[in-house]
Amino acid sequence: MRNIVEVHKLGMKYQSLNGEINAVENIEFSVAEGEFVSIVGPSGCGKSTLLSMISGLLVPTSGEIRINGRTVNGTSEEVGYMLQKDHLFDWRTIKENVLLGLEIRNRMTPENKEYVYNLLKTYGLYEFKDKYPGQLSGGMRQRAALIRTLAVKPEILLLDEAFSALDYQTRLAVTEDIYSIIKKENKTAILVTHDIAESISMADRVIVLTKRPAVIKSIHEIRLSCENRTPLCSREAPEFRIYFNEIWKELDVHVEN
Ligand code: ADP
Ligand code: MG
Repeated sequence: MRNIVEVHKLGMKYQSLNGEINAVENIEFSVAEGEFVSIVGPSGCGKSTLLSMISGLLVPTSGEIRINGRTVNGTSEEVGYMLQKDHLFDWRTIKENVLLGLEIRNRMTPENKEYVYNLLKTYGLYEFKDKYPGQLSGGMRQRAALIRTLAVKPEILLLDEAFSALDYQTRLAVTEDIYSIIKKENKTAILVTHDIAESISMADRVIVLTKRPAVIKSIHEIRLSCENRTPLCSREAPEFRIYFNEIWKELDVHVEN
């Protein structure tokens, strides 16, 4: 498979009033087309920093990122970004929210609109298109946020703790939904999370980061005996617990008192 994302010797140092904060150091990995990579690390280690750099929103202080062979230099339509908060606008209907990307890019053609309506239909939101975000459940809002991201047809999806704001049961259901949409739409995905189980449940590969400054501690190829790989099925596979325990030890999460 062709590598679609290449991260090379990436580093980020923030300048703050209290001096320099070394957030990310010497990160090196690549992601193949269609692959799902999870990046797991303790809170505050530099995960969001890493993803912001891949999205082009944040300029690294060292190293480089290439997407489809071209060095990242600002945001691009190849990359869609989904955050923990769904960032839907409460005063716009679901339809107006999911069409926002096309609207601001001046690409509201009949074909593009049709594409978005089809996404709403396929993923069970079409009949809610005239409702406002406040009238939808957390899971439906997150699905709407994903459709808004997909509307401009990115090849790569970046998910930053995209499920962390939801309660546990909803999170399992939404993870199931979002994973199946990403696979059906043939997207390449990078998920960052502090949740070990979530990271394994969706990934072809899990990259484990250390405490700040984030450097890569290890990379795990995830092979699970599931007939039909879904996050829930992954959690039930016999190998799941083995990966979980290994990553748990590597993360070295201490409860301090
Ligand atoms: P994570 O997403 O893993 O929780 P972040 O990437 O958000 O971690 O942050 C990594 C470190 O960088 C933290 O110590 C955070 O306080 C610091 N940091 C993040 N953004 C900035 C910024 N704009 N200026 C200064 N420090 C920052
Ligand atoms: Mg973060």
